[in-house]
Amino acid sequence: METTFHGYMKYRCPVCGSERFVVLDRGVEEDDVVARPRQPSPFLIPCTSQFCEGVQQDISGLHKVPTPQPLKFGMWYFEYNHTGECASLKRFLGSGRFA
Ligand SMILES: [Zn+2]
Repeated sequence: METTFHGYMKYRCPVCGSERFVVLDRGVEEDDVVARPRQPSPFLIPCTSQFCEGVQQDISGLHKVPTPQPLKFGMWYFEYNHTGECASLKRFLGSGRFA
């Protein structure tokens, strides 16, 4: 089944200023998805800048898209999991592959 996202969040590193958008799997920051109790996304994620040791922080909160959209190549993505903790940060590499 194709993976879709229902919203996105923007993160920024206070050390180097780098930013990234991360899209949200169904059930991440979302209610009423079958077999997926609402799961939070992390507030802090590693900085993407190669030589920075900072962490990126959520600066946007949840932004919903009007209808769920398929992932596009290279998107950062919070994948739903059943750990009881936060969703997992992944990168979509196309054809159902994630890093
Ligand atoms: Zn940084």
